[in-house]
Parts: sequence; structure tokens; C-alpha cells
Amino acid sequence: MPCACERSKATSRCRDCLQCPLQCEECVRDGHRLNPLHWVETWNGRYLEKKDLSDLGFEMYLGHGGLPCKYALSAAHPITYTITHSNGVHRVIIHECHCPSRRPSVSQLLRAGLFPATLNRPESAFSFDVLRQWDLHFLTSKKGAYDYFNALRRLTDNSGTRTVKNRYREMNVVGRVWQHLTAEKRAGLPHGLVLPNRAPSITVPCVACPWPGFNMPANWKDTPSELAYIHASELGGDGNHGLQKKRKRDDPDDVSLSEGQGYFVHPSKMQSYLEAIDSEPAPETCSGFKVGRAQRPGKFRNLEVSGVVAVICIRHGCFRPGAMVDLQKGERYASSHTYSSLSDR
Ligand SMILES: [Zn+2]
Ligand SMILES: [Zn+2]
Ligand SMILES: [Zn+2]
Ligand SMILES: [Zn+2]
Repeated sequence: MPCACERSKATSRCRDCLQCPLQCEECVRDGHRLNPLHWVETWNGRYLEKKDLSDLGFEMYLGHGGLPCKYALSAAHPITYTITHSNGVHRVIIHECHCPSRRPSVSQLLRAGLFPATLNRPESAFSFDVLRQWDLHFLTSKKGAYDYFNALRRLTDNSGTRTVKNRYREMNVVGRVWQHLTAEKRAGLPHGLVLPNRAPSITVPCVACPWPGFNMPANWKDTPSELAYIHASELGGDGNHGLQKKRKRDDPDDVSLSEGQGYFVHPSKMQSYLEAIDSEPAPETCSGFKVGRAQRPGKFRNLEVSGVVAVICIRHGCFRPGAMVDLQKGERYASSHTYSSLSDR
């Protein structure tokens, strides 16, 4: 059957474009200048074989809306990338822009919606789409990167007869950096957004709670005492003893990207506080801290963190930034009272 262009035989069609008719390879390539991550199938004489666009000779150009760069030197070879997208792992041949005012390679990739796996001569990248999907799967179904990548591998080839490049390790790192950058962006940190009476934080604060300089009248301190309850902040604290961490050898390179900027108290602040409070005996009269005493002995053996205590505003149910601590052994007076002295906001 001839292609609609009448130049040659129609042998290929796209699996991801809706209602895509059989076309010649040239028409398929021309139609995917801006959709390089579609799967195509080509008639091989016996059946329609699933292929990457690069198998049909497709090459992607950066920086000029999908068109070749005028300055692309014939000597400058394209780079073969492994690109992980939400429909599988692709092999894509990419030509960079070579204009005199060109941007660095990483910047060119990011502007095309591709997140490089490394900053130095990247050859692997992830589409923004797959990172966004991974983030939502992680947050809504607690899926691990290993299982998510396994699904992507099966989307690439579910028969197990083709070799699929394994980008699980890269996905672990890139996914985490993506989540961190997203949180920073939403908090306005890259734009220098500073809110009054708030330490730099990547958390979402409760904007309905009274907040001096943000949503309270300038003269709130002059409110008569009988009306002071209007400006009261109602906080509640509770512990979760199921959120535990066993004692094990940690990876020293596994560092936090946002230490002290999230919901947990900054570790150094916590350490100095605990050292200062260690000499103080816990008040035995308090009935609220009996959980630790009621546990059977040995329950906390081999546990580095036996639970967490967090503070929320009880009217709106928002966690307070910088007001969550790890518990070392059951519920302790010092940990449980940390929020009152350490909470930033
Ligand atoms: Zn398509
Ligand atoms: Zn054609
Ligand atoms: Zn160019
Ligand atoms: Zn609130």
C-alpha cells in the first residue's frame, strides 16, 4: 500500500498518536519532530514490530523548535541518549544547538523538557513528564523507585525478549533532586521570596493561623485581654510510634538536601537542646508520658528512632514547620516538649 505522500510504501505507524494511519518512514519521522518519545511499529514482512523512532533514522534537534541548527557542524556528532519517559525507556539521537550564543548542554536539555542524569557530559535523561508521574505515584501510593522503574521497563518490552537499559540508580538520584527542586520552587526560595517572621523553609505553612506581619493587624498587641483569644494559636502534639528506624549502617553520602528547612527540627539545634536538657529530671507527675514506661523491655532494642512526635495546628490540621522530632526510646519529656522551645513557626 502506498503512503498518502505517494513517495513510497506505507510500512510504519505510530502507536502513541491517535488514529495514526500506516505511513512511509519519512512521513513518520516528519510528523514526530516535536514528539520524539513515541513508539512506532514497522512491518517487517511477518508482523508489525515495535521500534524506537531512532530505529527509523529519526534525530532530535535542540534549541530551534525541533529544526536543525544552522551552525551545526558536520564534524559535531550527535549524542545517543537513553531517555526514560512515562511510556518506557527510549534511545534518542540528539543534536545540540551550536549557535555562537548557545546555552550549555544541560540547559538545552532542560529547556526541551529533559532532566539530565548527570551534569557532566550527560548521556541519560528523564522527561519532565515521567518525573512528575513518579513524584505523584511516590506520594499517593508510596511506590518505590525500583517498582516504578520495573513498570517502565515492562512498558518498554513486556515480553522479556529485548534488553532494556537499566536506569534505576539514576532515577533514584534524579527523582529525589526533582522532588527537592519542586519543593524549593513552590516555597519561592529560588526567587528570594521571604515571608515575615519565618525562617527559610520548603514547607507549606498554615496561612489561616495567626501570623504576625502576614495576616494579623499591625496593632494586634494592643488587643484587650478579654479579646486576646482571637489571636490565639491552637496547637496540638501527638506521637507516632510506628514510624521507626532500625539501627543499620548508613550510606555516608546519603545526605539531606533540605536539612532544617522542612518539618523536622534542625539536627544540630536538637542535639544541643537535648544535651542541655539531659540533666533535668522528667516530671513524674505528668500522666501524658506514660507510653514509654508501659512498653515491654527490649522493644526498642536495635531501634535508632522509635517514633516521631509532631505538632499540628488543631484547627486546620496543618503540620508546623520545624516542629517534628525523632524519639530515641518511647516518649520522652524532652522530645515531647521540644516544639514549645524550638518551633520556628
Ligand atoms: Zn506519534
Ligand atoms: Zn509518506
Ligand atoms: Zn543553534
Ligand atoms: Zn492553622
